[in-house]
This record gives sequence, structure tokens and C-alpha cells, in this order.
Amino acid sequence: MIEQAILEITAELSQAKNIVIVPHKGPDGDAMGSTLALMHFLRNKGHKVHVITPNDYPKFLKWLPGNDEVIIYEKDKSKAENLINEADLVFALDFNHLDRSGDMQEILTASEAVFIMIDHHREPSDFANYTYSDAEMSSTCEMVYHFIDKLRAVPKITSEIATCLYVGIMTDTGSFRFSATSAKTHRVIADLIDKGAVNYEIHNNVFDTFNESRLQLLGTALQNLRVKPEYKTAYISLTQEELDKNNFQKGDTEGFVNYGLSIEGVVFAVIFIENKQEEIIKISFRSKGEFNVNKFARTHFGGGGHNNAAGGKSDLSMENTIVKFNSILPEYKELQK
Ligand code: 5GP
Ligand code: MN
Repeated sequence: MIEQAILEITAELSQAKNIVIVPHKGPDGDAMGSTLALMHFLRNKGHKVHVITPNDYPKFLKWLPGNDEVIIYEKDKSKAENLINEADLVFALDFNHLDRSGDMQEILTASEAVFIMIDHHREPSDFANYTYSDAEMSSTCEMVYHFIDKLRAVPKITSEIATCLYVGIMTDTGSFRFSATSAKTHRVIADLIDKGAVNYEIHNNVFDTFNESRLQLLGTALQNLRVKPEYKTAYISLTQEELDKNNFQKGDTEGFVNYGLSIEGVVFAVIFIENKQEEIIKISFRSKGEFNVNKFARTHFGGGGHNNAAGGKSDLSMENTIVKFNSILPEYKELQK
């Protein structure tokens, strides 16, 4: 983001009265961490700020500072629509195409507010007036830290803001182990700890607050694991019936896909999760090294994301989705070397 844009945004911020911050549909740790961090930062500057999520998000994120004030569009449409209509400024965080805002797409498209997008996914669209896009960044939370830095306001980062930003960097980097984790990321993290983020408490709140049935669901997922060594690929499936049997709660399958990558030689891991209500199979793709899952998700399953982590969906049955997936693999010579 160039100096000129920062000057213009500073001018916008000196005037904006009503600000709305929106993450993508199915918000994850980075989406909730970045939106809530920015909410606290802008409120402390005196703005009227609301975070509106397209839909609900997992319980393991519901302890974040400011969580009680989040408005969920799906549950509170008229309040959300009033706030969007009144907004002078809309921040779009952790997504780069308006269709990622789900049912909010229409009202956001119609809004006359000035849009600022901050995001680290590949191939951004240009719906926003100001775009801060950097696909090399570990997370949108790391970018919000740099954005605050560009506004010369790092000393204004409170422990609440630090906690929210820490959550998103931690979850999007797989606890600081994915390749997008840079020395710069660690410097940001060190500063966030200095500013009051309590690393072991945050880790506990996010990763160690599940119930027994979630572990049993993991057991089912691992039973369903299939490995295709000839394609360096492993995949897992979970049907709606299996989810129901294990008392599935939103967020329970978070991280399951990564187990495939823990097998020696596997560089491509996938999880297929049936959603009977939406009549889709939601798919997560993860890879190690060069294999580009953003491209794979985009080409075959109407999705996208990053080089090593992406998502998509299928309208076919579980069985046919897996048949389709298996029939595509031979096209990828780079998986066969
Ligand atoms: P997850 O598999 O954890 O849902 O998502 C992995 C990454 O891919 C995230 O950065 C997420 O924003 C992105 N992603 C997930 N599903 C979709 C999708 O349907 N479309 C696009 N464009 N990106 C997705
Ligand atoms: Mn993210």
C-alpha cells in the first residue's frame, strides 16, 4: 500500500463516523482476529465501529475480546443492513472477492461507502477503493499490524488488540509452522506478546477447549483416511451422518485435513465434508512445497485460497465428488515424480 493511499485513508478516517468491518463467510481465527482487532483500534480512535460476520463461527473463537458485540448477518439481518446503509467506510478483511461475503454480497455491492480491503489471498479482485493485498503475508492479522504501523500507531496497540492479532497469526500459520511464517511474522508476534498477548492462554483457549465427541469425530475421520502414494495424496471424508453421530459442532473439523500431510511422502491432503443443509460437499485442500492448491481448487471445485491452503465445494454426492477427485489426479504429473 503506497504512501499516497495511506494519506488518503488517514483523511477518510479523520471524517468517517460509521465504520463496518466484514470478514469472509465461515469466519476462521484470522478473520475474527483481524476484524475484532481493527474494531478495537478504530473504536479507541473515537469511531463508531461494528463487526458484521456473514454467518456464525466456531465456539473456540467466542472468547475473543469484543466477541459479544459481533453482529451475525444471518441472525440479525435488519440491524446489519441498517448499519451497512449508514456506514461511510467498510473494511473487508481476509477475503478478496465479494462473493466470499455470502448472503451479504448484495447489500455490500449496493453500499456507497468507501471500501478498504486488507487481505493475503491470491488473485484479488478490485471491488474496493483501497486495496492492501499481499499474498506473501502469513495472515490478515499480520497485515492489520502492518496497517496500524503505516498509520504510525503501533504504540496504540492495546492488550485486547494484541490478543486478537495473535490469534489470527497463530491459526493461519498452523502455530507458526507453515512456510508463510517469516522472521518478520515472529517480530510482530514478539511485539504482540510485549503488548499483552498471553501466548499460552491463547493457545489453550483455541486448541484445548473441545469436548470428547470432537475427538471421536477425529477418530471417524482418520478411519476414513485414504492414501494414494502414487499421487503423494491423502484424503479424508465425513458424511453428514457421521457428523451427526458424533454431535458435530461448528469448528470441530478445523485442522483435520492437516493429518494427511503428516504421512511421509504425502504433499497433497484433502478433506471432503458433507453439508446436507446447503446440499454441498465442502472441501479443504492443503499442500506442502510447490503443489499449488489454490489453482487446483479454482480449476476443479469453484474455490481458491493460497498456494498451500485453499477451499472449494462440489454439488455432486460424496461418492461422485470423490470419483471426480480421483479422476483428476492423473492430470497432475508433478504429483507423480
Ligand atoms: P479452509 O479449507 O480452512 O476452509 O480454507 C483454506 C483457505 O482457502 C482460506 O484462506 C479460505 O479463505 C480459502 N477458501 C476456503 N473456501 C473457499 C472457497 O470456497 N472459495 C475461495 N475463493 N476461497 C476459499
Ligand atoms: Mn487468513
